[in-house]
Amino acid sequence: MPPTNNPPTADQFDLVSAIEQCARSGEFMQSILDVYEALEQTRTPKDAICLGGGACCRFDLFDHRLYATVGELALLQRAQPADISRLAMNRCPYQQGPKCLARENRPLGCRIFFCREKTDISEPDAYETPHNRISELHQHHNMPYAYVELISTLKLLHKFCR
Ligand code: SF4
Repeated sequence: MPPTNNPPTADQFDLVSAIEQCARSGEFMQSILDVYEALEQTRTPKDAICLGGGACCRFDLFDHRLYATVGELALLQRAQPADISRLAMNRCPYQQGPKCLARENRPLGCRIFFCREKTDISEPDAYETPHNRISELHQHHNMPYAYVELISTLKLLHKFCR
């Protein structure tokens, strides 16, 4: 399914099958990792200061909602969650204290959001360009596409708190 202006929500198509299909393609998974790598090599955010405390992963503190594509979810699922029960508090299950246990595979949104972000979150291309590239990669590799809110989707995937 190619990207559309109105991608299905998490409960409108079989996310489990879609994620499994994405995960089976090592080439597709690597192509998303390459987008992440390119972002991290080219961006030098002046004011994006990471204090290493993990506060930016607690979305409820910032009224922040993190979205991810199916391919990104497939990558994220490579990591072992620290504590699934955190989903009940709308917290990311991959966070363990200040650490992300999915650091190598964390979604794009995690890579551009900082708890002390001052300027770069408003940089037009900071998210849009790599996100659009990841969306195109779904089409290029003929992978199912959806763009879904992370926490509610993880709840759905883990059949938790529904
Ligand atoms: S995936 Fe990692 S970086 Fe992203 S919210 Fe969860 S713990 Fe934080």
